[in-house]
Amino acid sequence: PGTQLPFDPEKKTLVVLGSGWGTTSLLKTLDTTDYNVVVISPKNFFLFTPLLPSVAVGTLAPRSIIQPTRYITRHKARQVSVIEAEATDVDPINKTVTFVDNSDIKGAVSATTISYDYLVYGVGAEVQTFNIPGVQKHACFMKELGDAERMQREFMDCVETAAFPGQDSKEVDRLLHMVVVGGGPTGVELSGELHDFLEDDLKSWYPELAGKIRITLVEALPSVLPMFSKQLINYTESQFKESKIEILTKTMVKEVKEKSVVLQMPDKSIVEVPCGLVVWAAGNKGRKITQDLMAKLPEDQTNRRGITVDDYMQMKGANGIFAIGDCTATSYAPTAQVASQQGAYLARVLHQIARRDALQARLDALEKAEAHLPPAVSTDSTEAIAAAADDAKKIEAEKEELKRQLAKFKPRPFHYSHQGTLAYIGSDKAIADLPFMNGNIASGGVATFLFWRSAYLSTLFSLRNRTLVATDWIKVKLFGRDVSRE
Ligand code: FAD
Ligand code: NAD
Repeated sequence: PGTQLPFDPEKKTLVVLGSGWGTTSLLKTLDTTDYNVVVISPKNFFLFTPLLPSVAVGTLAPRSIIQPTRYITRHKARQVSVIEAEATDVDPINKTVTFVDNSDIKGAVSATTISYDYLVYGVGAEVQTFNIPGVQKHACFMKELGDAERMQREFMDCVETAAFPGQDSKEVDRLLHMVVVGGGPTGVELSGELHDFLEDDLKSWYPELAGKIRITLVEALPSVLPMFSKQLINYTESQFKESKIEILTKTMVKEVKEKSVVLQMPDKSIVEVPCGLVVWAAGNKGRKITQDLMAKLPEDQTNRRGITVDDYMQMKGANGIFAIGDCTATSYAPTAQVASQQGAYLARVLHQIARRDALQARLDALEKAEAHLPPAVSTDSTEAIAAAADDAKKIEAEKEELKRQLAKFKPRPFHYSHQGTLAYIGSDKAIADLPFMNGNIASGGVATFLFWRSAYLSTLFSLRNRTLVATDWIKVKLFGRDVSRE
């Protein structure tokens, strides 16, 4: 559609779905002069998820960890079209994407369909509730920016309500009991951040309540953080014990109610525990649009975990679709590290593909021209016959050269390079499993926390975000966290 796309009919159209870890990394590396590039995402920004739990307790301001997608695309060599919309359907046969404007304000047009030559599919995943009753209605999630903002509001509401005059002690205990479901890194980091808030700020702002707050982390498996080494799991558990964060392992949440959670304990007994707030960090599942797309390719897409791709990130069974990040089912963990490496890799492959397509287009044009060369006839002059033979020879030579170059086209398969796993566990301590030589170094404590901070600061995508995050950390050190509730 004319005004929207920087459309060049000579170039192929590359549609990118999503503005998360995978696709943002792709956009940073992509040579945008190769394609007509269109980015479609319901969020017009990139969210730095590792620092999301810090937003939930007010250590960081929400805007410090987001970056508008246009900040990245505006510096590209050729204009990129960024559309704030949610893709609702991908047709892998006719190669089209349908998307809708699902924001509050809508214009005369709020749904349309465009064609792609290549599609980069990076829509991530959504929260897995396992259809457990009450989760959707009563629990807070920790996946999107809005989730962290909502959690901060509700958490502060619990604290203010507990401080209401005349509240009996049983009700105060309930309101100040925070339950985090899921002992993966999200649940652990969030519990650590919550603990910091209580320790650093609540004691001085609400001294009468401080000792009454309880945090319980519920995990269905026998231990928290299964992806970390045993030594670091033990370290985290002992730190949590010291911080008075109770860990309930082999315990499954069966229902979330307005004022309680229903737990199945290790001995299979059912217990209802009163609480003020439940944060659901129990993992992710594929989005509906992903399931719908996979259902259109039933022979090749049978993995329930997500999209099956080959070693070049091509969606199996589809022509021209590449999938990266959390929406895929690969041998790698669904992490930002994997998604961003896949995005950067794919950008390089797409550059090679653009070169291959240009060679192929030239070859096709030559073959077409050759087919239309007028045959030499006896009435032609000797010079004309010689010139025609010369032209045919030149075309043949160029064709041979193009075929030689096309035969050389062989992108390298994706190779993941693991840089280590880090997690914040509260009280200015972090844990890290870092690859070293052919082994692993496990470390935990305050020094690791400083490493965690500097690693995340340097991974933030822009100087602007680094400045905002560093300033927020200094502000909290000087003035404490903001306990006002918007
Ligand atoms: P996302 O980053 O989720 O991006 C998906 C994008 O698609 C978003 O922009 C979304 O708006 C967009 N989208 C959604 N639906 C549609 C649609 N229908 N049409 C178009 N666009 C759509 N990983 C680590 O490696 N280290 C960490 O420390 C870490 N910490 C984390 C902390 C938290 C709290 C969370 C929630 C996750 C954390 N992760 C971490 C995991 C990491 O965030 C994910 O693995 C990563 O975001 C996956 O990248 P992605 O590009 O596949 O998806
Ligand atoms: P996760 O899938 O890693 O953990 C969810 C946990 O919830 C699981 O251990 C599961 O057993 C538990 N669970 C599920 N249902 C339950 C129930 N009904 N009751 C009790 N427990 C239940 O999810 P996550 O922590 O959000 O992580 C998602 C991905 O993001 C992972 O790949 C993770 O590595 C990555 N991540 C990494 C970091 C980091 O590196 N610091 C931080 C956050 C997330």
